[in-house]
This record gives sequence, structure tokens and C-alpha cells, in this order.
Amino acid sequence: MSQEIRTRFAPSPTGYLHLGGARTALFSWAYARHFGGKFVLRIEDTDLERSTPEAVKAILEGMKWLDLKEDEGPFYQMQRYERHKEVIAQLLKEGKAYYCYSTPEEVEAMREKARAAGKKPKYDGTWRPEEGKVLPPIPPGRKPVVRFKNPLTGAVTWDDMLKGTISIDNSELDDLIIARPDGTPTYNFCVVVDDWDMGITHVIRGDDHVNNTPRQINILQAIGAPIPIYGHLPMINGPDGKKMSKRHGAVSIMAYEEAGYLPEAMINYLARLGWSHGDDEIFSREELVSWFDGNNLSKSPAQWDVKKLNWVNAHYMRSMDPEKLLDLVMPRLKRKCNIISGIDLLAVLQLFIDRAETLEQLADQMSLLVSEFNGVDAELSAQYLTDESLNILRDFKNQIETLTTWTQENIHEIMMNTLQKHDIKMPKLGIPLRVATVNQKQTPAIDAVLAILGKDVVISRLAAVCD
Ligand code: GLU
Repeated sequence: MSQEIRTRFAPSPTGYLHLGGARTALFSWAYARHFGGKFVLRIEDTDLERSTPEAVKAILEGMKWLDLKEDEGPFYQMQRYERHKEVIAQLLKEGKAYYCYSTPEEVEAMREKARAAGKKPKYDGTWRPEEGKVLPPIPPGRKPVVRFKNPLTGAVTWDDMLKGTISIDNSELDDLIIARPDGTPTYNFCVVVDDWDMGITHVIRGDDHVNNTPRQINILQAIGAPIPIYGHLPMINGPDGKKMSKRHGAVSIMAYEEAGYLPEAMINYLARLGWSHGDDEIFSREELVSWFDGNNLSKSPAQWDVKKLNWVNAHYMRSMDPEKLLDLVMPRLKRKCNIISGIDLLAVLQLFIDRAETLEQLADQMSLLVSEFNGVDAELSAQYLTDESLNILRDFKNQIETLTTWTQENIHEIMMNTLQKHDIKMPKLGIPLRVATVNQKQTPAIDAVLAILGKDVVISRLAAVCD
């Protein structure tokens, strides 16, 4: 049997789940799913100063909204400290790591010296044990850090899923600090031990981590762990080609939930940020999983395009069962207005569905029709409810009062009669009628709107301005 594919998403809980993180999670998830493997969620909460429980919650909430279910986890890195310390002790014992008593100031001075000599600024190896080398006496009372004994020669080479072969000379790399003076393991070390223990076969992450990879590979080799395959995803840029940031719009995934985007649209759109399947723009989660085999990942940065996201979202809204869509819109609508009783909300939704790109827009537009009526604004009234137009409205009202079946077609016929009788064009009737009945200049087809509002409502609103 071939090896099980195991991927992970390993966010540091220092803020909400942002778009780049969500895309990394999605790609890791889809890759594991494609191969029938496992997707692991690991919260890297060891940076005590920057990690917060709120951020953990926000990340879990974002993952849940996107429905990216982990097969294992969430694991919390903090809870694995004993294990990390155990591996550090083992490395010390095997002479693959060593105590270093240099102070940060001393290390800075070493770096400065190297810089001045035109060399790579690095720790100079003062405390690095070598055959036959005599180490300096331990300064009393000083707590050491633990450094990893990085190979001095050779190179670290890996075949990146996106970037191809990358090779870094070991001479470029420092002896990394793997435990602080208080004994706590450092970030790169925890990642390595966790990836090993969790059997991670593919590390898919943002290319801001590419510099960590050679260091991590050397440690993995030292502890005797298999080296996973790495895939470093290029950044997401804003429309101006600069790294996506708040300037370009919301970067928190949950801000998109709030703005009324559907999770399936978000997944579809995020998948296209740095990956493609021919010309396909719209595809289901299942299709994504069946296609996502690690090929067709883009090597250049993706560009955020809210217009395209809106287009994708509108597509998903329009292809959804209207009743289901209404269920999703209802809480938003209720937050916006008191809904008049008896109105056919499904019919209202269908009037607006082609005009809205998000649930929030749909709720906004629907609220104009379904909210309790507070009369016509003075400004609109002054402009559109003139004596002349009130005369026309009055006539229209008299005719619709006689209607026995209240349908859009019958209302339409009366509108046509009215135009003919007064020898006017549609706007002369349509706009005052909209203003009088819904306090708006523009609406979808007004005959459809009136049909939905119902005879009693329409007549009483018209009476309020005409009589
Ligand atoms: N915790 C890291 C971050 O949030 C990711 C580590 C990794 O993927 O290796 O940026």
C-alpha cells in the first residue's frame, strides 16, 4: 500500500483567519482529500506574547464557516512542550545540539564583526563543541540557550512543489537556537517535532516560510525524521500588485461572512487564487477535491479581485434553491427592519435576486419592500407627488379598486390603460407610483411589486397621498 498523504494547517493564533491562511488551509485540505489522506489542524500557540484565545476561536470559527474539517486535531503546540523538550534533551545527548552561553549582546557583536569583514552575519560558534576544541569556562550564573549544530558544509536541497529545486548552502545557515534560556523550545523546532510526530508528508504553506525550510530540514535529518515534501504558495496581492492588506479590503475571512458571501463561493474563489483547472471558474467542492492533485499551482502571486468574487458569489446565490436562500437572508432581513405581515417573502426575493451579489445586498434591497411603511419622504413627495401626478395616481387607484383578481397581469393592464388615457409615458406613472407605494424612485417592475404588496396595502398607501 502506498504511503498515506498527511497535510496540516498550522496557524499561529495571533489574529483572525486571514485570506492567505484560509487559502493555505484550503489547499492543504483539498490535497489530503484528493488522495484520501488526512488533514491535521495544529494551533501554533507557543508565542505567548502574541497568541490569544480570541484568535484561536476566530481561526476555528473561520475553518468551520468554510467547512474545512480536520481529520485530526486541533492540536495545541503549547501542550506538546514536554515532547519538544524530550527531543532537545536527546539532541544534546547525541551531541547534535549544544549549550551556548553567549549573551544576545555578544552574538550581536559577532554578527557585526562578520558584517564588517564582508561575511554573512552569524553566530561565530564560540560554544560549538568540536573534536579537540576546548570550550571557554562557563560564566557563572548565566543561563544558556540550546543551539542546533547545523552542518558546516554541503547544502540543503529540496524539490518544492511550486518553486522547483531549491538549494541552500549550509554555510548560509546559523546554528539555530532551539531552546531559550528558560528552556522553552523555539518556533522552528516545535514545527519540526510536530510535523514529524504527526506524520506530515506534505507541508503546504505560504512562501513567507521558505527561509525556515532549510533549517527545518537539517533538524529533521538530525532527529532521524523523514523529510516531508514542501510546497510554498506565493502570496496573495491586492489589485495594485502589492501584498494584500486592509487597504485592499477586508482580509479576515469572517468579514466576508458578515458581508454576506456564501462559504461555497468563498471556497471556489479562494481555490482560484493560485490554482487553476483549465478555464473552469465555477466548480463545486467535490470537483475541486477530485482535481486538486498538486499540479497547476501558480508560481506567481495571485491577485485579489473583489469583482470576480462578487460574480462568483452571485452565481452561487442564483443557483441556490430560493427557499434555502431565503432562510439564509432572513436573519439579515430581520436585523434591518420590521417585516410587514402577510408578505410573500419568496416572491420578493425572486424580484431582487438578479440585482444582488451578496446576501447583505439582497437583504438591503428586500427590506425596502417588506419593511413597515412610514410614509413618503418630504423631498420625494415634493418632487414626484405633484398635483399632476396625484391626479394620475388617483385615477389609477380608482381603477385598481375594482380589480377582483389581484395579479401582476391585471395591474399591468390598468397601468397601460392609465398611460393611454392620460397620454403619458411610463415614467410619469411609474415613478410617482413607486414613490407613493414604497417611498423609492427605483424598484424592480412596479406591477410585480404591487402584486406582492397586496391590494389592501397598495390602496391604503395610495389613499394616504391621493385622498
Ligand atoms: N504557524 C505558522 C504561521 O502561522 C505556519 C507554520 C508552518 O506552516 O510551518 O505562519
